[in-house]
Amino acid sequence: MSIINKVRLVEHLFAQLDKEIQTFQLQTKLDCGCGCGKCCNKTDIEASPLEFLPWSFQVYLNGKSDEVLAELNSKQDSECFLYNHLSIIDKGVGNCSDYYYRGLICRLFGNSANKNKYGKSQLLTCRNIKELYPEKYKQVSSDIENKKHIPVCTDYYMRLMQIDFNLGNIIVPINQAMKMAIEEVLNYYSYHPFDNDLRHSA
Ligand code: SF4
Ligand code: SF4
Repeated sequence: MSIINKVRLVEHLFAQLDKEIQTFQLQTKLDCGCGCGKCCNKTDIEASPLEFLPWSFQVYLNGKSDEVLAELNSKQDSECFLYNHLSIIDKGVGNCSDYYYRGLICRLFGNSANKNKYGKSQLLTCRNIKELYPEKYKQVSSDIENKKHIPVCTDYYMRLMQIDFNLGNIIVPINQAMKMAIEEVLNYYSYHPFDNDLRHSA
């Protein structure tokens, strides 16, 4: 499958998830506090290269692949490459510098459920949400246990893997996932001609 087709399929999956999340948020009114970036500031976020393929493709279209790859290679810490600090005092205040192209895990966290060992769905969220909205959190957790519809994390990862098993099945630290996604696009275009119309549409 061509790289552009994979990118489109991943984007289509993201669009479906975004719709589901919008419905979930409208129903539950659970959302993140303004300016909170605590989950992006964690140093143990993991992702698959495939979920960053639309991002890396965009980087390629902008002619920045080599530059971004060099920056990723020289990065000394494991904080997400795309995390943008908005405060020098509190590292948890910040946002994503490329929100539109964020990965699957970034979209799912706080807005999806995981199955526990008893097969019950549990909201995948942070301490912040639990503390900010204790009542809502309790209500949503109980609704989910009682089969209220919520995107399920593992379902989305399964669907991602169906697009490209190799790139969707590897789970690595987030910066490595981005690096692999950039390399994937560069490798692809070292063997395939580039359609210039794509660059003009970027
Ligand atoms: S999910 Fe939690 S930690 Fe992440 S931005 Fe929202 S409130 Fe902050
Ligand atoms: S890609 Fe963006 S949303 Fe995802 S962890 Fe990094 S900064 Fe956060």
